[in-house]
Amino acid sequence: MEAGGADQIHIDVMDGRFVPNITMGLPIVSAIRKRTRLPLDLHLMIVEPEKYLADFVRAGADLLTVHVEACPHLQRSLAQIRELGVKAGAALNPATSPSAIEYVRDDLDLVLIMSVNPGFGGQTFIPAVYPKIREVRTLLGARSADVSVDGGVTREHVRPCVEHGATILVAGSAVFDGVDPGARVKELRQAAQW
Ligand code: ZN
Repeated sequence: MEAGGADQIHIDVMDGRFVPNITMGLPIVSAIRKRTRLPLDLHLMIVEPEKYLADFVRAGADLLTVHVEACPHLQRSLAQIRELGVKAGAALNPATSPSAIEYVRDDLDLVLIMSVNPGFGGQTFIPAVYPKIREVRTLLGARSADVSVDGGVTREHVRPCVEHGATILVAGSAVFDGVDPGARVKELRQAAQW
């Protein structure tokens, strides 16, 4: 990933409760931390994420993203993340309105827009996210927060996502379903430069 020019490593943590699948947790994050200096962007698809925030920071996270659907006290969760000294993100499922982040805008370093329903890799990108990206960008106004798009992103989605206001694109299958992941990262980056 580093050789291909990736800006950061996005890690999908799934708990089998918030989403149907179980992926990886603290030991894997610690192991990845030892292998790279790139920022680790942790996408927590888990219920009650506030219980584990400090553990994930200790394991080496640079940014923690919680799901708005999993946080009844979203502002508190975001403030807690920043108090731990890392960046805070909020993720929106496809059915969740951008208005969910309207009153926590000043607590955010990143808004993650899911372009598939979270839980499994290899799903097809939902085009309804394009206007949503623009809506989130407008809601954020002049704030410097990033807008990230995650789920089913392939080369063909790169340009429209960027044109609508995305600043970070997360790719899983588009990178790892090949023999040379570094080359795939390069191709995705090239698609963002026109
Ligand atoms: Zn993710």
